[in-house]
Amino acid sequence: MSDAADRLNEIKTKITNAAARAHRKADDICLIAVSKTHDAAAIRPLIAAGQRHFGENRVQEAAAKWPELRAETPDIKLHLIGQLQSNKADEAVAMFDAIHSVDRSSLVQALAKACDKAGRQPQLFVQVNIGDEEQKGGCKVADLPALLAEAKAAGLKIEGLMAIPPADIEPAPFFALLDELAERHALTGRSMGMSGDYETAVMLGATHVRVGTALFGTRD
Ligand SMILES: *Cc1c(COP(=O)(O)O)cnc(C)c1O
Repeated sequence: MSDAADRLNEIKTKITNAAARAHRKADDICLIAVSKTHDAAAIRPLIAAGQRHFGENRVQEAAAKWPELRAETPDIKLHLIGQLQSNKADEAVAMFDAIHSVDRSSLVQALAKACDKAGRQPQLFVQVNIGDEEQKGGCKVADLPALLAEAKAAGLKIEGLMAIPPADIEPAPFFALLDELAERHALTGRSMGMSGDYETAVMLGATHVRVGTALFGTRD
């Protein structure tokens, strides 16, 4: 078995164990393999090992890499986890099965238009700046109700919330807060947890974990 397949199995086992500790079903957690910066040769072993959900943070990079891989394996699901410029909304709606970075009014409007035109809507997550950090992407916690209302008025169905907690602090309270915000707004999706903290996130309700380094090794 390749290294990638070993790492995949190890992470799946950890997710299963974390889910069991929280009396949750492992099937309710989607593992997104974050393949940004990694080429097709690095990705193929994971596809061969059965992985189907992949995450990219840039539309351009995904457009260069994935058409060929998808032609080989049509049931692959692609998740956009990075910032999205409004002028790339059409391209993102055409290419991605899920967009985790809906974070502002102008993007809600651009996505509504793009989905209308395309006749399809990817799963959408509103990214929340859960630690209220100055430079960080995501909508402010205080602005979340208004953004969700605007998305609804624009005809978009929001699946859930996404967050990246502040670095170098215990992430659990931020995962708990995202879970509470999702609950408050009756949203089922919680996209939270990365290589260093996905088990904690699973125990606190994550439905989607985004794991890069632990699967692929470090990025250049
Ligand atoms: C890169 C990235 C990840 C994966 O991070 P790792 O620490 O490599 O697992 C997850 N989420 C987002 C939004 C990212 O940009």
